[in-house]
Amino acid sequence: MQRTDTSDPNYYHQVVDCQWACPAHTNVPEYIRMIANGQFDDAYILNRESNVFPGILGRTCDRPCEPACRRGRIDGKPVAICRLKRVAADHKDDITDRIPKAPATKNGKKVALIGAGPSALTVANDLMPLGYQCTIFEKGPRPGGLMRINIPAFRLPEEVLDEEIGYIVNMGVEMKYNSPVTSLKSLVDSKEFDAV
Ligand code: SF4
Repeated sequence: MQRTDTSDPNYYHQVVDCQWACPAHTNVPEYIRMIANGQFDDAYILNRESNVFPGILGRTCDRPCEPACRRGRIDGKPVAICRLKRVAADHKDDITDRIPKAPATKNGKKVALIGAGPSALTVANDLMPLGYQCTIFEKGPRPGGLMRINIPAFRLPEEVLDEEIGYIVNMGVEMKYNSPVTSLKSLVDSKEFDAV
């Protein structure tokens, strides 16, 4: 039998079943502990490290973490991990100050992102604080992609979408609405961007 490699982060993920089952490996036990402690802001920010839309996922995630929850094997029902994420999002105070900021001095690299859906928004969220200038081309008039047009508002209210997308757009992302990209080649050939 092989020795356990405790220097491998996966070891720690795998021993926490819910965290391992979550595609984003969200630190579930820690954020639930924070909620139990009334630290809603901290729980929200911790969630945001793994995915940038805790309020949205707290309403819409398919929650593969819950079938993995050990409580299911003890008393037949998992902890309501997904809804607790919504609890943190709904009860937090203004956390704007804790959202990563884009530096005033950019690193000189420009990145084009196509479609203002969760993927492009997440990339912008991760690159803007590193000094990249991101431009998102969106064919529609508003951001959100499938999150906005495929999920009914009674399940995912617009104010939740607007708030969480706003945290990212307000980092200074250049948003080009009503701007469908009809030719990827033209965009690449324009040499306006270092990456697409
Ligand atoms: S609700 Fe979704 S995002 Fe949250 S921990 Fe579970 S699987 Fe991960």
